[in-house]
Amino acid sequence: MIASEVRALFAVASRPEIVSLAGGMPAVDALPLETVAATVSELVLSRGAVALQYGSAQGDPGLRARICDVMAMEGITDAHPDNVVVTAGSQQALDLLTRVFVDPGDVVVTEGPTYVTAINTFAAYQARIVHVPMDGDGLSPSALAQTLERLAAEGARVKLLYTVPTFQNPGGITLTPPRRAEVLEICRRAGVLVVEDNPYGLLSFTGEPVRAMRADAPDDVVYLGSFSKTLAPGLRVGWALAPAPVTARLVLAAESAILSQSMFTQLVVERYLATQPWAEQVKVFREMYRERRDAMLDALAESMPAGATWTRPDGGFFVWVTLPGGVDTRAMLPRAIAARVAYVPGAGFYADGSGGSSMRLSFCYPPPERIRDGVGRLGRVVRDELDL
Ligand code: PMP
Repeated sequence: MIASEVRALFAVASRPEIVSLAGGMPAVDALPLETVAATVSELVLSRGAVALQYGSAQGDPGLRARICDVMAMEGITDAHPDNVVVTAGSQQALDLLTRVFVDPGDVVVTEGPTYVTAINTFAAYQARIVHVPMDGDGLSPSALAQTLERLAAEGARVKLLYTVPTFQNPGGITLTPPRRAEVLEICRRAGVLVVEDNPYGLLSFTGEPVRAMRADAPDDVVYLGSFSKTLAPGLRVGWALAPAPVTARLVLAAESAILSQSMFTQLVVERYLATQPWAEQVKVFREMYRERRDAMLDALAESMPAGATWTRPDGGFFVWVTLPGGVDTRAMLPRAIAARVAYVPGAGFYADGSGGSSMRLSFCYPPPERIRDGVGRLGRVVRDELDL
């Protein structure tokens, strides 16, 4: 295990004078705190004996039923609560899944770049991580097919394709529908289980939900979901939806890891969904992030030198910027911090040391004027770096 670059940055980036485009912290200040407080209070007073007690390792059945309704918004209409395992954030689902499937030396195939903490999870179980390149349409199916063929020829045991197909972290890219079908078919033929990690799916700036890969492949996909971005990450409530044999193993793994999930936070989520206009709240988040995305894209167009490229996300939290002239974004970071702006260097999102000229910028947390300010400062740092 290695220290996450993002975590190490938190201490620096949280200093008030620094515009942090680094961490992916949801804007929880947009939540109606009085309503959250009322929900918690009502829960403790009416069902305290249940909420404060141990529960099952699989999670509260009432919450699991509501999770199925949430997934229906993304086209998953056949999910059964029996196949849902509630976890401490989707991060724990990823950890349990890796624990169940991956032996040391097994291969996990992922997009390049990919979610940094997933890399750390796979590494903790001594997986070999193999990246497949993406373009503006997401993971390349032809590159995936070639990679799987090469790995099969080597005799490698490929266990999982880990993908964040919608509003990806860190790329902000969404896999197109035809490619989704191709990727599913390639993995089905190769006997590789697809892990669809989808914490951002409901944060679509067009308002149109993106159909989940799982909707079209119930037997071949484990879907990971989370309330971290659509309610609050501090609750630590996420889930996995899996085919029945996988569900059974995830429950066993959960039992040994945590005994019982927090009944308290599970029931807070369940009550919030049951009694509050949660879908409206998701809309508030979406509008807010869309405005921030716009601010970031405008500021990048104004501030970045010729040759710099970046993605234009239709949802989620992140823009991926690639700089010209062989700039090393890790080496540049101290100079950016001195200019009071922070980002995450691109190399951390690869297991193989690529991504050195790229960086991830988050637009989720600072308000638009801070984003414009921060990107402006970053543009000057980049120009200095290029002697412009
Ligand atoms: N997957 C991805 C792609 C993420 O970006 C995150 C949060 N940064 C997670 C999983 C973990 O989310 P949580 O554990 O809070 O549900």
